[in-house]
Amino acid sequence: MTTTGVGYHCGTINCCGGWYVVAKSMECGTCAGYFTYGIKFICEDLGFPIDFDVINYNAGTASICYWAKDNPSIWGNNEGQFMFNDKHAFYHPTKRPEGALNLRHIIDHWTEVAERVKALEAQQTRMDITKSLAVIPVDEKLDAIIHATLVK
Ligand SMILES: [Zn+2]
Repeated sequence: MTTTGVGYHCGTINCCGGWYVVAKSMECGTCAGYFTYGIKFICEDLGFPIDFDVINYNAGTASICYWAKDNPSIWGNNEGQFMFNDKHAFYHPTKRPEGALNLRHIIDHWTEVAERVKALEAQQTRMDITKSLAVIPVDEKLDAIIHATLVK
């Protein structure tokens, strides 16, 4: 058994991190040795803060894990917090009743998460403020006294 990072073993759920690095770098390689860097890249690519030390990494502290825990309907189950620790984080009642048994299961799960996020974004309607801005008289003189007070 090969370690994929500090204390992480190849052939486990940890491999997804290592393979993500290989996939991103487009280089031939294996998952071994890259686990923690994979988590960093996944967080970066999805817009989560890198709030852990990559070398002394503890998956339980990663913001992306807490996001999954706090958003079970988007993640797809209540075990998202353990996405880097436990195969059951990828549980689906019909598609993956035993959780992730291989990398295909993890990829499928993440694809489903991405589709749920896209569907949510499509539902969101933001107000177009440009019509309101257009009626504001742009030439109106402003009171310089307020500015002078603020810069004191
Ligand atoms: Zn591996």
